[in-house]
Amino acid sequence: MGARVSDRLSGLAPSATLAVDAKAKALKAAGEPVIGYGAGEPDFPTPEHIVEAAAKACHDPVNHKYTPTAGLPELREAIANKSARDSGLQVSASQVLVTNGGKHAVFTALATLVDPGDEVLIPAPYWTTYPEAVYLAGGVAVAVPTSETDGFRLSVDALEKARTPKTKALIFVSPCNPTGAVVHPDQVAEIGRWAAENDVWVLTDEIYEHLVYGGLRHVSLPVVAPEMGDRWVVVNGVAKTYAMTGWRIGWMIGPPDVMEAAINYQSQTTSNISNISQRAAVAALNGDLAAVAEMRTAFDRRRRTMTSMLNAIDGVTCAEPEGAFYCFPNVTGLLGRSLKGRVSSTSAELAETLLDVIKIAVVPGEAFGAEGFFRISYALGDDDLAEGLQRFSELVAAG
Ligand code: PMP
Repeated sequence: MGARVSDRLSGLAPSATLAVDAKAKALKAAGEPVIGYGAGEPDFPTPEHIVEAAAKACHDPVNHKYTPTAGLPELREAIANKSARDSGLQVSASQVLVTNGGKHAVFTALATLVDPGDEVLIPAPYWTTYPEAVYLAGGVAVAVPTSETDGFRLSVDALEKARTPKTKALIFVSPCNPTGAVVHPDQVAEIGRWAAENDVWVLTDEIYEHLVYGGLRHVSLPVVAPEMGDRWVVVNGVAKTYAMTGWRIGWMIGPPDVMEAAINYQSQTTSNISNISQRAAVAALNGDLAAVAEMRTAFDRRRRTMTSMLNAIDGVTCAEPEGAFYCFPNVTGLLGRSLKGRVSSTSAELAETLLDVIKIAVVPGEAFGAEGFFRISYALGDDDLAEGLQRFSELVAAG
């Protein structure tokens, strides 16, 4: 008798970030005073004008039907316009595919570009989904190390060391989940030139483009590195910018032949994305960026509070993140130490101790290929943020 579950899916790791978030939410629902730092989503509601557009769309029977596979023409147009407006990227609406969130766009892009055995470079620490999506596409994920001392910024030297004749693509993300690193414009251009010289495709994930702090600026890789020609794919979505994680709208943009294949693939998989959510996304993208400016102000304040509270804990060090909404502290100074009688030898064990003993949920670095670190989201209310870190600090002080 053959195996019940395919080898391919048996080898797939579950999403650790979603697992931590689900566990924290379940404990909370059971009445435990859990504070969750696992979330990868803004704690703000979706702006009212976007919700209104969706509510209105529900009542129009036109939206009770399938949309074209690649997305509503109005939405593809809005995405093309937004790309020109926000990052100076000139594309036509026909180059846009609307997907079920940014995660689906990553998956589709890799399924479109990668052949079995192709190597895909992934800067580490990496978002937990990237290597799994490469694996599902039949490719080989190759981690490219970045270091804490360089602020986790990707360098051309590290890329060059990882390159082989089988390298097909690089996944580039700035601001980065989980480290919050922002690659500066001249370095982005240098990375693009390196990719061009070596015939490496770049999948650039721009989902955190508007969450950059301290006067830094996000730049789009194909805009600052025109040498790449058309060997790039942009992945983005409304989730983080408009507090719309639950609406599941993302997109992929690329050259016409690649997009034709990706749209063909979508026609055989999801058919199209929810019509109502697409209408909401049209309202989001054609509106202004006031909501994200407000969120950015709150996240900026919380990022500074969190960084200083973490650094005040003996055994924890944390660089100030420059983008997204995560701190990525080094907690190796706490390993091997007794905390309320519990000694952890890995960051994963330490994360379990924190959840059991002081009811705070963090994602251990193991989920991102970086043992010895935690990813701690600051997309939660200021009071909870401070309360949980206070518990952490008291636990360490008490020993
Ligand atoms: N890319 C990165 C780097 C992310 O952190 C996320 C969300 N955690 C996504 C893409 C996908 O977001 P969504 O599928 O919710 O649009």
